[in-house]
Amino acid sequence: MSIIEFRNDIPPINQYPHRIVSPTAPSLCCAVEMARIGEVQTDATGQFYYQRCNSCGYTVRRFFGPSPARINEDAQKIRRMLAEMNLGTGTTRRRTREQVEQEIAAAERPRRLIASPPRRPRKPLAA
Ligand SMILES: [Zn+2]
Repeated sequence: MSIIEFRNDIPPINQYPHRIVSPTAPSLCCAVEMARIGEVQTDATGQFYYQRCNSCGYTVRRFFGPSPARINEDAQKIRRMLAEMNLGTGTTRRRTREQVEQEIAAAERPRRLIASPPRRPRKPLAA
């Protein structure tokens, strides 16, 4: 969940990590004034950090990678797909149905994720 409130009816506020009020749209200054605030965070969507314009207060969440849960989910889908592909449609089946079902079951078991620590995003240019 984002802590950013986009509004134009009040001035921008930076009360990170609790609340940020940002203008609803970026301005020209944002091209050079955006600076990272706070640490890398992870939610259901991915890993991100907040980036705020030092000049006008425009703030965005900069996503740079999927969350560990998402990586795990995708890996599971791929394992399942690969297991299903082994069924084959021709006259010679490479595996018996029983073997394939065992593989599908194995693919659906959650596995422990071996996640590498998130890389620190490149530091934005200082103002
Ligand atoms: Zn700006």
